[in-house]
Amino acid sequence: MSTGKIIDGKEIARQLRLQLHEEAQSLISEHGVTPGLAVVLVGNNPASHLYVRMKKQACVEVGITSYSHELPEETSEEALLSLIQTLNEHPAVHGILVQMPLPAHIRSQRILEAISPDKDADGFHPRNVGLLAVGAPLFRPCTPWGCMELLHSIGVKPAGQSAVVLGRSNIVGKPVALMLLAENATVTLCHSQTKQLPEMVRQADILISAMGQPELIRGDWLKPGAVVIDVGMNRRASDGKLCGDVAFQEALPKVAAITPVPGGVGPMTITMLMKNTLFSASRCVA
Ligand code: NDP
Repeated sequence: MSTGKIIDGKEIARQLRLQLHEEAQSLISEHGVTPGLAVVLVGNNPASHLYVRMKKQACVEVGITSYSHELPEETSEEALLSLIQTLNEHPAVHGILVQMPLPAHIRSQRILEAISPDKDADGFHPRNVGLLAVGAPLFRPCTPWGCMELLHSIGVKPAGQSAVVLGRSNIVGKPVALMLLAENATVTLCHSQTKQLPEMVRQADILISAMGQPELIRGDWLKPGAVVIDVGMNRRASDGKLCGDVAFQEALPKVAAITPVPGGVGPMTITMLMKNTLFSASRCVA
């Protein structure tokens, strides 16, 4: 039986980080600019602590200086805004990342809007969202950009293809739909109110799933030869193991290529954060 290609996000991210390391070195040696990323974490969410550790580790790997700000749960919104203002003005800081989610008493949108759009390493500032929407991106959101890099890495050209995106969140679904559209795919954006989801999925030459629904997409929903990028990061109810939105083993024989979970999109997200930070640092010397 033929089988699809497994897109090795870990390896693709590793290679990209090697390239980024070279770029960081040349920024330092040729321009005297050491790229810097401020990483701000508020509170005790264990998953957030893990993500922040992984981001700081990626900085070390790539040659970016990370400036860590770990603040207690009870930090006020004003105190956080004041820190962001300081980081916005700090010349050694090229990118600012505020780890989400924030404690409930802090308005996340207010914080995202306070980050300078010129240091917006996550690409969530409304100005950067708007620039993406009008087709002139500056800082791109990391997970969707990582999805596009994965497609490119296996030679997929979205132009003229039917791309179906499952999920319409601001951090994944909507921006990845815009990125696919910018590359001339014909894009269908589905969500929880979409009727006949299997029929929609069957149209997809390129399927990007970001729903957070463990293995909802079955193998027989897929168009033969489709390319599947599975952003979903879920725990399977039966064994507690990590899984995507797509039933991977069923999908594999049908698709041309598919990302595994874990080891697909995940490693790319942090890599694109590094890329945004380097891009920001390189704007200082342009
Ligand atoms: P959200 O919960 O913000 O959005 C989920 C989206 O999926 C919503 O638009 C929702 O529709 C839609 N949806 C949910 N259930 C269904 C369904 N049964 N049928 C059709 N659409 C549905 O999630 P995120 O975008 O933040 O994340 C999505 C997944 O991606 C999660 O599993 C998350 O863990 C993972 N993720 C992984 C990352 C990585 O780096 N690997 C990074 C970010 C996210 P509606 O809008 O109508 O509610």
